Amino acid sequence: MLAAVVLTLYLAVLGSALPTDQELERRQRASVITRCTVPNTAALTFDDGPFNYIYDINKVLKANNAVGTFFFNGRNYGCIYSADNAKRVKFAYDQGHQVASHTWAHKDLTTLSRDQLTSEFARTDEAIKRITGATPAFMRPPYGKYNNAVLDVAGARKQSVVIWDFDSGDSSGISVAAQKTRYTQLASRRPSTVLTLNHETYASTAYDVLPHAIKQLRAKGYKFVTVAQCLGRAPYQNVGAPAARTAAWTC
Ligand SMILES: [Zn+2]
Repeated sequence: MLAAVVLTLYLAVLGSALPTDQELERRQRASVITRCTVPNTAALTFDDGPFNYIYDINKVLKANNAVGTFFFNGRNYGCIYSADNAKRVKFAYDQGHQVASHTWAHKDLTTLSRDQLTSEFARTDEAIKRITGATPAFMRPPYGKYNNAVLDVAGARKQSVVIWDFDSGDSSGISVAAQKTRYTQLASRRPSTVLTLNHETYASTAYDVLPHAIKQLRAKGYKFVTVAQCLGRAPYQNVGAPAARTAAWTC
């Protein structure tokens, strides 16, 4: 009888000591990055591509000895596996810009089930891995919206969640002049570091706001680097050879 009680107690203690899956996830919950840490760095980030302005954005960046960070979706403006989009993703990677995940279909991740969430992350990581050979170490949730479930899934996938400390306003409908003014004011405040939100999908961002932003920030002595560089961290979890296209490359 006593032995049975002791055994029951022992099993109860053992049982409670074993972490559940959710507890394990909570322990590796992703950190949320809202600013750069390396002084005098500016990380220009571009969301919602791959899209057709990437080549001209690259030209502006390269002309200023700058690199940027692209948070790509799997299926937003077309499918990431289309010939044009896969080429854009590979181009960004090959040019030394940082390639990161904006998850699959630009959904509000806080509305999804755990399985749906995992799928939004996994399909994007798989596509980026196939196209570039690299697995991203950083992601940005669409709309900057996240909850603990998002952080748990990101953490389990060893990805950091990146938000921003400056929004150009290009996706919120403010005028191009107002976007440029925001950058002018940012430069005059001259914070130690800058982590900007822009979108790859607006012509005005590529041709008007970005050149102005770089001119303003350059005059203040910032170095234009990737998000990973502005944190002193690695951009990818692993890097390998890209895969050859197969029939599985579909959305
Ligand atoms: Zn977005």
